[in-house]
Amino acid sequence: MKVLKFGGTSVGSAERIRHVADLVAPRGKNIIVLSAMSGTTNSLVEIADYLYKRNLNGAKETINILESKYLKTLATLYDRHESREMALREIKSCFNYIRSFAARDVFTSVEEKIILAQGEIMSVAMMTILLNERGYHAESLPALEFMKTGENGEPDTNAIALNLRALLDKYAEANIYITQGFICRNHRGEVDNLQRGGSDYSASLIGAAVEAEEIEIWTDIDGMHNNDPRYVEGTRPVHELHYEEAAELAYFGAKILHPTCVLPAKVNNIPLRLLNTMEPEAPGTLIYNSITGPSIKAVAAKDNVTAVKIKSSRMLLAYGFLNKVFATFEKYRTPIDMIATSEVGVSLTVDSARFLPEIIDELKQFGTVTVDRDMVIIAVVGNLEWTSPGLETRALKALHDIPVRMISYGGSDYNISFLIRACDKVAALNRLSSTLF
Ligand code: ASP
Ligand code: MG
Repeated sequence: MKVLKFGGTSVGSAERIRHVADLVAPRGKNIIVLSAMSGTTNSLVEIADYLYKRNLNGAKETINILESKYLKTLATLYDRHESREMALREIKSCFNYIRSFAARDVFTSVEEKIILAQGEIMSVAMMTILLNERGYHAESLPALEFMKTGENGEPDTNAIALNLRALLDKYAEANIYITQGFICRNHRGEVDNLQRGGSDYSASLIGAAVEAEEIEIWTDIDGMHNNDPRYVEGTRPVHELHYEEAAELAYFGAKILHPTCVLPAKVNNIPLRLLNTMEPEAPGTLIYNSITGPSIKAVAAKDNVTAVKIKSSRMLLAYGFLNKVFATFEKYRTPIDMIATSEVGVSLTVDSARFLPEIIDELKQFGTVTVDRDMVIIAVVGNLEWTSPGLETRALKALHDIPVRMISYGGSDYNISFLIRACDKVAALNRLSSTLF
């Protein structure tokens, strides 16, 4: 059994949804994970925002606009009148449910999460009806019945596996399963989600739960590219990546895959394949335990990074200094991405500036603090084991005329990171491509 996940653009119109049905139907008894149609979750966020602010007219107008988009989709999605009627009932009931929140006095994050869940619920309803119309026995597996997070907010993988297997047993005679990405229930039993973009994570968790033969992430690009196609011309898909390489690329800016998605596949040793809905025969990118020779495979950039430097004359021979610095970031739950240390100080980067003023304030107890904003991390990823000389040099050479604020290498065998100014990003990405690939 495989898990096939289709993102919002892949189900973004009646034509696209029909195309996904064409793709999945002949592939056998698999689990299909769907996102909401593109733009839907953003609209639902907007609706929730109006409801928080008690702007009922704003909410109603946005609900109506979104509903008409769905009704338009249904008009051409099905061949049979009965299918369309059935889908209309499902979609209208979702929109009436969303509308019902406008009539309530309280609106909290619990209600918001319920509203956000409707996009994926509608995708699954539409696709299940479509596949059944085409003569397949498609069963929808409600994610709210199996996808659970625990008290720490992390997925409860044991519960997910137990619940999901029970559902698969219940519908053993089905020949294809459809389920919602993104949505789950938390430890209180409330509707919740795995954060924006989380349906890749859903697919990976589902793959792990059923010990899938493969997890396929279908999007609108032919795999992970060796550089960012938005800024560099002539980028090419990388055909094979190690889990660690893919995780570094996803974390450091390759938009095609959500960073959380790699871990469940890696832990369970399940191949993860990135494929293009518009070019289904293209090889895409296969992510697994592939050991290749020393090489640089791809480059990615992470935006909106802030660098913080703490200089202390007393760091010399002192222990406990780094501990105090890290504890400050921990206190404000702010993850650190890059670190560079010297005899007298430490520089590190964060991508969340939310608590930066508080953090800086506290760090001033330990030394002189300087902050550089509008920075970018350029990650150079591949099999970069330190015993294979020359790879760092090639990357550095490409950046010879670009000011580099920090360098980090050796944290893993898979990544060298450079911190540069945002204004140098496009030049850096292009130079790296022309030098390395
Ligand atoms: N629909 C959700 C979002 O837009 C989840 C996803 O597509 O991955 O964030
Ligand atoms: Mg996505």
